[in-house]
Amino acid sequence: MSKKGNISIHTENIFPIIKKWLYSDKDIFIRELISNACDAVNKHKKLVSLGEAQKSEEEYRVNVYIDKDKNALVFEDNGIGMTEEEVEKYINQVAFSGAEDFFNKYKDKVNEQNDIIGHFGLGFYSSFMVSTKVDINTLSYKENSKAVKWVSEGGLEFEISESDERTKRGTTITLFLDEDSKEFLEEYTVRSIIDKYCSFLPVDIYLNPKDTNEVEVVDEVSNDEEKEEDKPINDTNPLWLKQPKDCTDEEYKDFYKKVFNTFDEPLFWIHLNVDYPFNLKGILYFPKLKNEFELIEGKVKLYNNQVFVADNIKEVIPEFLLLLKGVIDCPDLPLNVSRSFLQNDKDVSKISKHIIKKVADKLKSLHKNEKENYEKFWDDIQVFIKFGCLKEESFYDKVKDSILFKTINDEYVTINEYLEKAKEKHENKVFYVNNVEQQSQYIKLFKDYGLDAVILDSSIDNHFISFAEFKNQGVNFNRIDADLSDILKNNSEENKEQKEQIQNLFKDLVGDRIKTYSVENLKSEETPAIILVSEHSRRMAEMKNQFGGMDFGMTFEEEKTLVINENSSIIKKIFELKDDESKKEQIKLICNQIVDVALLSNKELDAKQLDEFIKRNNELIKMIISL
Ligand code: ADP
Repeated sequence: MSKKGNISIHTENIFPIIKKWLYSDKDIFIRELISNACDAVNKHKKLVSLGEAQKSEEEYRVNVYIDKDKNALVFEDNGIGMTEEEVEKYINQVAFSGAEDFFNKYKDKVNEQNDIIGHFGLGFYSSFMVSTKVDINTLSYKENSKAVKWVSEGGLEFEISESDERTKRGTTITLFLDEDSKEFLEEYTVRSIIDKYCSFLPVDIYLNPKDTNEVEVVDEVSNDEEKEEDKPINDTNPLWLKQPKDCTDEEYKDFYKKVFNTFDEPLFWIHLNVDYPFNLKGILYFPKLKNEFELIEGKVKLYNNQVFVADNIKEVIPEFLLLLKGVIDCPDLPLNVSRSFLQNDKDVSKISKHIIKKVADKLKSLHKNEKENYEKFWDDIQVFIKFGCLKEESFYDKVKDSILFKTINDEYVTINEYLEKAKEKHENKVFYVNNVEQQSQYIKLFKDYGLDAVILDSSIDNHFISFAEFKNQGVNFNRIDADLSDILKNNSEENKEQKEQIQNLFKDLVGDRIKTYSVENLKSEETPAIILVSEHSRRMAEMKNQFGGMDFGMTFEEEKTLVINENSSIIKKIFELKDDESKKEQIKLICNQIVDVALLSNKELDAKQLDEFIKRNNELIKMIISL
């Protein structure tokens, strides 16, 4: 006996619209059908545990078959199955009304498809996005049930009848794929979709398994082969569900490698495990850094009850945490709603606050209890921490005392430790290097004077410096080539006259290429002169460049000072020869060359400067040769 009917959908043109949405994310029908199958298995398990159903004789499983001959994709489970009434109720009414609800909710937002997370709660109905015809064969766990067959072509009309196609408890859903969906007949495609969405579902999922009812093969070789092929795709017990105390380091590392498809090891990790006031489990890993840009590739995968939803959902996971890698399973999240809803949802913001707190706590505890390791990790995690501080006030407040600075002496200090040590030499001033190679002359100078500077050379440091100055009122950050005159001027009153003479000589021979000159007695004899650039003017000039060289009606030129070292043997020699008219030309050349070398060890020369530098250099060589 068979029964025909119309599905209670009033809007005939619902398909083109839903199809349009799903187009970019058509794959999700596989996720929907497999998660329904797992639900059906779990329901059976539950009934067994309550003594309301008989124990399953077979292992619970979900099989997915590709039938190329029939152009079909088959999903088979041994869950609770459905009786005829249940098919009527759940498929004809629930599933289809779900689709209708969806349609009503989003019909005005046809063009906002990106606003909707790829989880529509469309469930079973999504199978029509790829099929011309869908069959359901199902047998309920209930005693004396009869198997039922439900068929629908196109999803608007159905036919339901008794059938003997299903002899064991469970449900088989067969999708006869339409012309545009032939890609789902490729095993590789189907496997990668299952991998993506169903890797951690709680029931074993097999793709194209050999017939499980086949008589066991005696031959050992083929037995092995069978074992090889017949492996479930998924891991039914993902590590994040275990209690943190029961997980070993090895397990955390293996899980990381497997999920993120890498041979690298993570630096450390945080296992999130919350039951109250919301449900949240997950593991966040701090990756090792290969280069700064790789960070952008961080990935936090969001799951809803072990079903993958999406990567990197900013609304749930604070943006800076997306630099990490990890998995978060959040069964409480209303993920079938639009992103703008998530943004305003109180629970979502609680979850995100909780994650921030856990991450901050972990960092603090590492700093306190495993200082050496923490310092070792610092280079890799600093960008993440700084970005977090810039993005999230609450994160900064928690970790501020665990922010480290690497010094030119390869030590790691907090800002307070640095300031305390430098108090007598330069109170409330932090000197920093932003390019270790370029600024090597200055680093040498600092070391000569027993001064310390910190290295701030990542792309986030510019912002971080302004931020740190704002947070530590009264403290100034100065680049290592900034105005050091206070520190260098320890004996500037000595030889006043000689100093003036040297200065005048340079002014005379070099001219206004340099605006300010000063003469100091530096500790090193080797360096004839160095350039200092006022921190303020440099920052203004940099800012101007950032805004595309826009002119604000003011000049933003770096204020440079040439510090001539009267202790340098070259300068001493020049001073001796300064009145020798016959050497005048040579001395002019040398003074200009000294200035250029100083400029060069501050910053690259521009094309014109470089051109002159080379010309002068050649003349100097000629001079030496003709000596
Ligand atoms: P949802 O899963 O969100 O409830 P669906 O449209 O996916 O919505 O499914 C509707 C209902 O159909 C399910 O709630 C379930 O009762 C029933 N159902 C779907 N697939 C199966 C299955 N494989 N086995 C048993 N029942 C199923």
